[in-house]
Parts: sequence; structure tokens; C-alpha cells
Amino acid sequence: MTDTKTSPDFGKRFLEGQVALVTGASRGIGRAIAISLAARGASVACIATSAANAESTAEACRALGVKAVAYGVDVSDTAAAAANVKSVMDDLGGLNILVNNAGITKDQILMRMSEDDFDSVINVNLKGTWNFVKAATRPLMKCAGRIINISSVVGVTGNAGQVNYAASKAGVLGLTRSVAKELAGRKVTCNAIAPGFIETDMTAAIDEVAAAKLTDSIPLGRIGSAEEIAATVDFLVGPAGAYITGQTILVDGGLSL
Ligand code: NAD
Repeated sequence: MTDTKTSPDFGKRFLEGQVALVTGASRGIGRAIAISLAARGASVACIATSAANAESTAEACRALGVKAVAYGVDVSDTAAAAANVKSVMDDLGGLNILVNNAGITKDQILMRMSEDDFDSVINVNLKGTWNFVKAATRPLMKCAGRIINISSVVGVTGNAGQVNYAASKAGVLGLTRSVAKELAGRKVTCNAIAPGFIETDMTAAIDEVAAAKLTDSIPLGRIGSAEEIAATVDFLVGPAGAYITGQTILVDGGLSL
């Protein structure tokens, strides 16, 4: 039997009246996060490189009975991120939850990695996160908001062939802990999720043999789903996550063990 003292029932739509901004929402993990937040009752701003790409996610959110708007923003553009946060506030009436999910890979062994491939991965994954955290801080401080940054297991473990990506994702973890400390006084929480090997377009690029080898190395014996990352976001931004800040939750089937 459920002990109601230790397992409160917050209801299914515990985010009703809140506004969430999700970057990289056109597909994969970001799309699953946006739809899951909408299912909890949040209005959702769906950000991708083009509004047309994010529109089908916004449409799926609206089908769940919430407001949702698609925006095209390059997250690495500081001014565009600031302007976008203002538009979201105007269009959806506030901002309570920020999910920095947009990310790219440009894998190559260090000896062959170009400066451009290093810079662009850092600019999207790390600076893009900083851009949106900075732009959203003021509104989030007004409502004890929540920030979730999507890092990666390789930000914790490192990975050959991903010096740029691993550095960007490790940077996101340092940023998360520092923002958590800076904003705790204003009751804003900031946490990171570090996914392992998740089935999306990003990992579809990995060749079959390498993917099978990687799956074999996962203690739980399978690749994860975008919905499993979205469920972790729901937990952290909902009432159950209120006392958690500055943490990294590895959702990786045990890959990092
Ligand atoms: P994906 O490639 O399927 O989707 C990436 C999203 O980011 C898209 O919506 C794309 O439009 C958006 N995006 C890319 N560059 C952008 C930019 N400059 N401005 C705005 N939007 C931009 O990726 P995914 O697998 O869904 O990954 C989502 C996040 O999770 C990424 O940060 C990724 O690093 C991280 N992650 C993924 C895995 C995995 O196994 N798939 C594992 C660990 C971490």
C-alpha cells in the first residue's frame, strides 16, 4: 500500500499554469521532453534551428490541451537567445522551466579534429546553454523556476573521438553546479541530466557494429529511449524535485559504472 506521507500524489498535470522553454525540440530527446511537459499541463516554447522544424512538436503539445509555439533560434547566438526569451514571455505569459537540450556532435580523433569542429560543438552545446540560462535568469528568479541542462555520460567519463563533445558536456556540468549555487538564494534549482546511449537521429549515425558493441557494454543490456529522459525531466521540474539542485542524474542503464 502507498504511504501517502512519503509518496505524495501530485496529480498528472502538476505543471498546469507553468511555461516551459525547450531547446532542440524538433526531434529526439527534446521533442519527447516538450510533449511530456505538455502532458503535465505546461505551455511549451519549442525551439529548434528553424520554427518549421519545431512546428510538429508544438502541434503535438497543443493536441494535449496546452499552448505551444515553435521558434527558430540558433542557440549559440547570444542576442537571439535573449530576444527569444522575451518573445516567449510575451507569447506564453511567463517562464518557469528552462530545458537546455539542443546539442550537436562533430566526432573525430583529436589529431584530425579541426578548430571549426571544436568551436562549433562548444558554441552550440556549452555557450548555447549559457546563453539561455543568462537570458532566462531574471524571469526564473521571479517564480522560483527550474533549469535542466542536458549533458551526456561522456561529459563524466570522456570518450575517444569526442574531445570537443565531451569537453562541452563536462562544461555543462560545471555550469550547472555554479548556477545552482548562484541562484539557490532565489529558490531557482539547476540540475543536469547525463543520458547514456539513447535511440534518436543523433545515435542513428553510429554504424551497426559499433552500436551493437556499445549496447553490449550497457549493464541493463539495451539502448535507452527519449521518453526515459523526458520522465527524468518531469521528476526534476515537478514537486518531487523541489529539494534537488546542482546534481547530475545519469540516465544511462549503468553505462558509466
Ligand atoms: P538530435 O540530433 O536528434 O536533436 C538535436 C536537436 O537540437 C534538434 O532539435 C536540432 O534542431 C537542435 N539543434 C542543433 N543545433 C542547434 C542550434 N544551433 N540551435 C538550436 N537548435 C539546435 O539529438 P538528440 O539525440 O535528441 O540529443 C538531444 C540532446 O541530448 C543533445 O544535447 C545531446 O548531446 C544529448 N545526448 C544525446 C544522447 C543520445 O544518445 N542520443 C546521449 C547523451 C546526450
